[in-house]
Amino acid sequence: MDRLIAGYRTFRGGRWQAEHERYTELATHGQKPETLVIACSDSRSDPAAIFDASPGELFVIRNIAAIVPPLEIDGAHHGTSAAIAFAVLVLNVRNILVMGHAQCSGVAAALDGNIGDDVPFLRSWIDLLKPAVERTDHSANETHRTASLERETVLLSMERLMNYPFVAERVQAGELEINGARFGIADGKLEVFDRTIAAFKAI
Ligand SMILES: [Zn+2]
Repeated sequence: MDRLIAGYRTFRGGRWQAEHERYTELATHGQKPETLVIACSDSRSDPAAIFDASPGELFVIRNIAAIVPPLEIDGAHHGTSAAIAFAVLVLNVRNILVMGHAQCSGVAAALDGNIGDDVPFLRSWIDLLKPAVERTDHSANETHRTASLERETVLLSMERLMNYPFVAERVQAGELEINGARFGIADGKLEVFDRTIAAFKAI
């Protein structure tokens, strides 16, 4: 906790001072982010840092492997789905970016099945990647196989978003776009999915 308190003091004396008018404005008038980012919880893959975002710019959902779960209408507690609904229907975001990353442990676990059964909830969450595993290029070596699944995971989440009726309606009305990307932790490169060539392209 000491590290967090020290970091807060640095923030309060630095960035908050520099941006306090923006914080006041956001507190008075509420947030109006244009972008929802769905990213991995991995500590190395922070959307606000990668996109140099200011307070109020990004509405962010982070979970293991940046997975959009299937649409399930039941009485269970769907944290990711609830946040997607809030971002689209209440905040009226114009863009959803699904961002995976290199060296994703969640994605690797889907390939090697190496998931501790003593960790609650994890296996059924990682099992959501099965359709992406089936599409992965298994002929490649391990590094390329994992990278392939990291990209397929992003595409699967993008597809599942379109199964949410309120997302599909806004996309079809031209009010919302869905994008995908993969962040390279070691080299800092960002690949963005390019629909015109149906492939990820480094920018
Ligand atoms: Zn990850």
